[in-house]
Amino acid sequence: MMHDYNEETGRLAQQVLDYARQRTELEPIPTGGTATPERLAELVGETITAGGLGGQEALRVFTEVLAPNCLSVDNPRFLAFVPAAPTEASILFDLVVGSESIYAGSWLEAAGATYAENQALRWLSDLAGLGAEAGGVFVQGGTIGNLSAMVGARGAAAARLERLRRNRPDRWVFLIADTAHSSVPSAAMVMDAEVIHVPTDSSRRLTGPAVAEALAHHGDRVAGVVATAGSTNLGVVDDLRSVGEVCRANEVFFHVDAAYGGAALAAPKARPLFDGIELADSIIIDPHKWLFAPFDSCALLWRDPAQAQAVHAQHADYLSFLDRYGQWNPSDYAIQLSRRARGLPFWFSVAAYGTEAYGESVQATLDITQVAADRIDTAEHLNLLWGPSLSIVVFERKGWEAADYEACTDAMIAEGTGFVTPTRHDGKPVFRFCFVNPRTTAEDVDALIAAMA
Ligand SMILES: *Cc1c(COP(=O)(O)O)cnc(C)c1O
Repeated sequence: MMHDYNEETGRLAQQVLDYARQRTELEPIPTGGTATPERLAELVGETITAGGLGGQEALRVFTEVLAPNCLSVDNPRFLAFVPAAPTEASILFDLVVGSESIYAGSWLEAAGATYAENQALRWLSDLAGLGAEAGGVFVQGGTIGNLSAMVGARGAAAARLERLRRNRPDRWVFLIADTAHSSVPSAAMVMDAEVIHVPTDSSRRLTGPAVAEALAHHGDRVAGVVATAGSTNLGVVDDLRSVGEVCRANEVFFHVDAAYGGAALAAPKARPLFDGIELADSIIIDPHKWLFAPFDSCALLWRDPAQAQAVHAQHADYLSFLDRYGQWNPSDYAIQLSRRARGLPFWFSVAAYGTEAYGESVQATLDITQVAADRIDTAEHLNLLWGPSLSIVVFERKGWEAADYEACTDAMIAEGTGFVTPTRHDGKPVFRFCFVNPRTTAEDVDALIAAMA
């Protein structure tokens, strides 16, 4: 069974590798599709059987029915939510990571993998300017990254109050803007903490003076401030410098959620937008969003990793042996123990192509965003409402109600034109493009705009 490497396994290996290679080489990438559970039951039936289908049959079911009923978010005409555009190197290396059975929770068990992941983290940390001591870990996604960071923030706030011999609050508070990602209030809920919305300025940015006012009001209840560097809906980067300075002056933990936008640190022309990010106590950046890595991978960085370790390291008799090695145990820096070395596909890709290629590819997506903004501006049936802001534009289709937008998205999926979903802006239904794929062309944009006519 498990280790019976016979002729049939060899055939299966060939088929699996061939399929993965073909999928990586597909040009154009098919849009994929979707189906109801009833339809899939009809097409596939039951796959979990006492005797097993056999690898060949299970693979056939996947490649012929299941995979075509998933959307290919790496398609260059997929501009909904935050799509993905993994490099060939990162996709292929993901297969290697799977084959290695690396337990990437501890240095003892994964020294080589951790060394490589840490170099990839170092690159991101240096782009942000977090300092020589900074470090962290790759977690599953921005949601777990934000939760881990906010738990670290609360730990730091509690330690500070203890040092000052002041009481902990009954309920902790996080100061955020209403542009913060949904995972931030969700993390607060998990922590049974409260979020207080700090008003933003006319450009919808969280600013230092507004944070200072909220701090004066909420004082010792504040566990931390969460700013966003690239809001999900509009691509807004908060005024990180003024917020960071206020946090420093008040000894309050400053977390920057750069899950989507942090990639633009790699583009020299965009870097000034992030001025002040170097003041952060923690940052998250998702390589699976705009840094060309496959799902799933979020870089969580701490300015002071020892502080994070004090909060996150798990202790048990069966784990204490690992501490003898006194090295960097990745699981000490977030909410997780067993972990896939989920930073390795990203590391391999950056190692293979080099950081300049990353900067150029991010810049290419910023350039196509500008092209899209110009096209929308001149299209008679559209109205540009926001952007370009990082790689996001928001616009309305003149005369359409919410149902028209939804019908248009359904038609695009059915016809394989692309994938663009409606969102809301100032209370109105709108369309939004988010570009993370350097292979998206002006022709792709034109095709989508034509589908909205
Ligand atoms: C996507 C996103 C998240 C959540 O990241 P996941 O990887 O989807 O969990 C958090 N913050 C921002 C700003 C995001 O855009």
